[in-house]
Formats: sequence, structure tokens, C-alpha cells
Amino acid sequence: MAGPGPVSKSMIDPFGRAISYLRVSVTDRCDFRCFYCMSENMTFLPKADILTLEELDRLCSAFVAKGVRKLRLTGGEPLVRRGIMSLIGSLSRHLKNGALDELTLTTNGSQLAKYAGELHDHGVRRINVSLDTLDPERFHAITRWGDFDKVTAGIEAARAAGLAVKINAVALKDLNEDELPDLIRWAHDKGMDLTLIEVMPLGEMGESRLDQYVPLSLVRARLAQHFTMEDVADRTGGPARYVRIRETGGRLGFITPMTHNFCESCNRVRITCTGTLYTCLGHEDSVDLRAPLRASASDDLLAAAIDRAIGAKPKGHDFIIDRRHNRPGVGRHMNVTGG
Ligand code: SAM
Ligand code: SF4
Repeated sequence: MAGPGPVSKSMIDPFGRAISYLRVSVTDRCDFRCFYCMSENMTFLPKADILTLEELDRLCSAFVAKGVRKLRLTGGEPLVRRGIMSLIGSLSRHLKNGALDELTLTTNGSQLAKYAGELHDHGVRRINVSLDTLDPERFHAITRWGDFDKVTAGIEAARAAGLAVKINAVALKDLNEDELPDLIRWAHDKGMDLTLIEVMPLGEMGESRLDQYVPLSLVRARLAQHFTMEDVADRTGGPARYVRIRETGGRLGFITPMTHNFCESCNRVRITCTGTLYTCLGHEDSVDLRAPLRASASDDLLAAAIDRAIGAKPKGHDFIIDRRHNRPGVGRHMNVTGG
């Protein structure tokens, strides 16, 4: 596959934030249909629009050459993309030569039993697995197509392969709120961190977002009746705030996009599987990188397009304003940018 593109200075946006973290949605497809993420009869992108594995490698490598130190593959479900292991194997060269600190992924866990060992062989050391409930029936209600046993077996396979697993759970009003203490104890008993996520207003799905939305401030207040939470100082530039639960010794994260508390330290950008660059999850503004990628075998056009996009990265997102106006903040679905 292609080598890294032209080396240039690190990417600094107009607000002085260095961009060091790239999230890449390698496919918009998924073997689940989580109700807050997709409708059951989703229309997926035509295959011709989707970047090939070689193009994804070239695009990621151009960002690595520009100073990205952490790469997260997501989707849709990244592990259902055909040939995904060859892409991960190829990208692992950036780990080996020290250009990249971390290659990781966010997955629904369904394919982990198959791939955990190979992921570890390619230098992946930590993964995020999304799991909102420990109740198989609720799991089915949330994911529609998911198989709970397969996911828990996948998590065990990942741990056995030596991967550190962090669990991501979306806090859902009336759906899993009551079992969050159990989910936390379960994860922490196995030595896994757990991060709670607020439902974000992405995509139209015919159900009111406000029916699903429970503010994490409320969740946290309720959890305080079960646990002693101690603030953990370290912030990693990401949107999560962490506490240590004294009773379990484990870490609990809160991602609260609706409360606008992390944009000032944002170090990340996202690309979709069609090569569209989003410099902010909460904005419609995007830049097409597929055209410059395909226009030339050299990476000069691509590098210039990336620079222009970083130079226009917005200061923060507009979710709150849009929520007040009671319409979805952003029309695209979460599986397009991968969260
Ligand atoms: N399929 C993989 C997975 O589920 O982990 C990766 C992609 S998924 C879009 C990434 C994360 O976004 C998951 O943790 C999922 O729960 C979360 N997510 C999806 N739709 C969301 C929404 N509307 N609000 C908040 N989180 C959402
Ligand atoms: Fe698939 Fe992940 Fe979206 Fe669920 S949240 S439908 S697993 S992409």
C-alpha cells in the first residue's frame, strides 16, 4: 500500500488547537440496527462512493504525516468491512516506526471473537466496545439485530488476547437507566473502564430525541446514591470527564456533548468512508478529500485540502442552540461519522 504523504508541519487550527487525533469511519454499514443510531431500513452508500482500503490507507497516512498520533477506526461497524484486517495490518507500520502512538477502534463487539488475536498481533492494545445493557432482551430491543452472547463472548476474547477493553454505554431514558449501577459493577469487576454517553441529536429517525435523552448530570446524581465518585484530574483532550468509583476502584467516564464543555480542548477530526472530512461532529460543514485523493497519485492536493479544512475548523458545536429550536442538530446519522 502507499507510503506516507509529504511531511509538513503539525496541524494547528485557528483557535490554536493541535490536531493529533483522527477518527475514521471505514464503512457506513453495520450488522446491528441500534434504534438511536439507524433506522431499520437504512439505505447505505453505493459501494463506488466508498474509498477502497488502499485509499483509506493513503488518507490516514497523509494525516499521520501531518502530525496525527492517534488513529481510531469506527463505522458503522468497522469489523464488518471486508478486508479490514489488511488495512489494520498496513496501518500498523506507523506504530512500528513510531509515527503513531495508538491505533485503536470502536466496535459493537460482534466480530471480536474472530479478530481479537489478529488485532493484538497488529499492535492494537485498547479498544472501545459499545454495550448498553446486560439484559439480552433489552439488548435485542436496543440493537434490533444484535446477538448479546456473541458480543459478550467477543469481549472475553478481546480480554484473553490482551486487549484493554473500555465499555461505552449510551444512557437511555427508561431503557437502561435502572441498570447502570450493575453495568458499572460488571465492567469494573473485569477491570474495564466504562464511559456513559448522552444521546446526541444526529439524524432523523421519527422518534423524538427528547424521549431518549437523559442528561448525564441527572444520571450522575442518581449514581451518587450507589457509589462514591472521586474526580480524576487527567483530561486527555477528549470529551470524557472521569471519576474513580471508590467502591469498585474502576474509572467511570461521562461524555456530555449536550452541555458544551469540551470544545476548547478538541484535538480531533473525523473522516467518513467516502473521504469527507468533518472538523466538528456538531457541524454540517465538511470538506471532500476524495476528489484530491483521486485526482493525483501524489499527496500534494490532498495535503493542501487538509490544510484548508483545518484552517476553518469551527470553535465549537451548535447542539444546544438547535435543541432549543427542537430540531435535530445535524441531519446525518451517527454511523456516517462514527461518533
Ligand atoms: N458500531 C460501532 C459501535 O457501535 O461501537 C462503532 C460506531 S457507533 C456509531 C459509535 C458509538 O456511537 C457507539 O458507542 C454508539 O452507541 C454511539 N452512538 C450511536 N448513535 C448515537 C447517538 N445518536 N447518540 C449518542 N451516541 C450514539
Ligand atoms: Fe451499528 Fe454502532 Fe450504530 Fe449500533 S451504534 S447501529 S452497532 S454503528
